[in-house]
Amino acid sequence: MRYGVIGAGVLGLTAALRLVERGHQVTVLERDRLPGGLAGSFEVAPGAWLEKFYHHIFRTDRHAVALIRELGLGDDLRWHRPVTTVFVGGRARQLDSPRSVLQFDPLAVPDRLRLAAGLAWLRLLPSAGSLERATASEWLPRIMGRSAYETVWEPLLRGKFGDAAPEITMAWLWARIHCRTADLGYLRGGFARLYTTLAARLEERGGRIVYGAVVTAIRTSPDGGLTVTFGSGGAGEAGEAFDRVISTLPTGLTVRLAPDLPPDYAAAHPAPRALGAHCLVLSLDRRLTDVYWIGVNDPGLPFLAAVEHTNMVPEAEYGGRHLVYLGNYRHHDDPVFAMSKGQLVEAFTPGLRRLNPAFDPSWIRDSWSFAAPFAQPVVTTDFARSIPGFDTPLAGLYVANMFQVYPYDRGQNYSIALAERLVRHLEPGT
Ligand SMILES: Cc1cc2nc3c(=O)[nH]c(=O)nc-3n(C[C@H](O)[C@H](O)[C@H](O)COP(=O)(O)OP(=O)(O)OC[C@H]3O[C@@H](n4cnc5c(N)ncnc54)[C@H](O)[C@@H]3O)c2cc1C
Repeated sequence: MRYGVIGAGVLGLTAALRLVERGHQVTVLERDRLPGGLAGSFEVAPGAWLEKFYHHIFRTDRHAVALIRELGLGDDLRWHRPVTTVFVGGRARQLDSPRSVLQFDPLAVPDRLRLAAGLAWLRLLPSAGSLERATASEWLPRIMGRSAYETVWEPLLRGKFGDAAPEITMAWLWARIHCRTADLGYLRGGFARLYTTLAARLEERGGRIVYGAVVTAIRTSPDGGLTVTFGSGGAGEAGEAFDRVISTLPTGLTVRLAPDLPPDYAAAHPAPRALGAHCLVLSLDRRLTDVYWIGVNDPGLPFLAAVEHTNMVPEAEYGGRHLVYLGNYRHHDDPVFAMSKGQLVEAFTPGLRRLNPAFDPSWIRDSWSFAAPFAQPVVTTDFARSIPGFDTPLAGLYVANMFQVYPYDRGQNYSIALAERLVRHLEPGT
């Protein structure tokens, strides 16, 4: 069978590898010049690669750990326990363990106890089923108390989902709390190594990856298969015929590429309801803070997260550079996406001074700005009903994307699991 896979993110590459292993001919078409998609990297220093958006995995990410081991990178997966905090009441306060919850002084002691009990209950609850129809904005204040809701949860939900915050399902928050660990995994040399190794394994087994291939259309071919049209910069458009095509793009974007899909399917999958992600990455000549993660719960700061990567991975691995991400989730037409690096640094400097009053822009040696327009599905209480299956009404066209990993938050682990599930669906009994 000739398979075409659109997207060389972790989902597309894993699915492609599994199909090649089952004896199929597989071509992956990827818009970018490198593999990895949302988990892709850039060369931050000569020979040193860093993800465009902050990345780590959790101990519970068993599919990701298994793939890393299978590719021979297991010895390079290092586990760290860096400090993660919430910026509230003018400073960053640790909030990553039962003990730190009990010491979290923006809340009165009874409120801390209630927060700790609520968290413990969510960690013990084996599935999200009973929480699906509850909004986090209703459930959290009722169970964990209004004070904890307003101090810890509401700013997080608002920062991540904007105006949709009141509608977010509690099932999504259950998954984030239930499945996450304080230990964070990171590959020596970055996740770029996972993607170059995965791509190399796929090619060794006979798979093909075409980089710089922007898919513009998927149409039925007269012979019954599907023809995928893609442009590759100045080289014009090319078409390639496949028996089956897997699109790893959000379903609403796949619909735009496939005009032969029936109108009712297209209407059921409009433009993806998702926020875009933006990160300004700074290379500093010194440390900004002494913690890895700062979730910003103060609307006065112009970013939602400050992640000092080199407080998890030693700066020596980056030639002594201190690397900090300043992240935001915004609607894809938000002005932040159009700002130059200079404008971003100017806009973010007051916020950086709130994290470290001594901060001066002269500490910045280099900066990079990265954006992804559809990065965070908006998981409202009716979200589950809109999730499509793998099959589409167009014979041979399948959709698999991070909108289908619900109630889990998008993550490399869940895209890998989804790819394995897709291939079992396509090739039952193999
Ligand atoms: C800010 C941020 C932080 C994150 N942090 C973590 C983390 O700490 N840990 C973790 O595990 N995960 C994290 N994630 C999530 C993780 O990156 C994703 O879940 C995962 O990479 C999704 O992989 P995917 O293959 O499903 O999709 P994608 O990576 O989106 O892959 C889709 C691919 O399709 C390509 N493509 C799109 N349109 C076309 C076209 N027309 N033609 C050809 N190719 C096309 C894209 O270039 C891309 O390579 C984070 C994501 C973001 C945005």
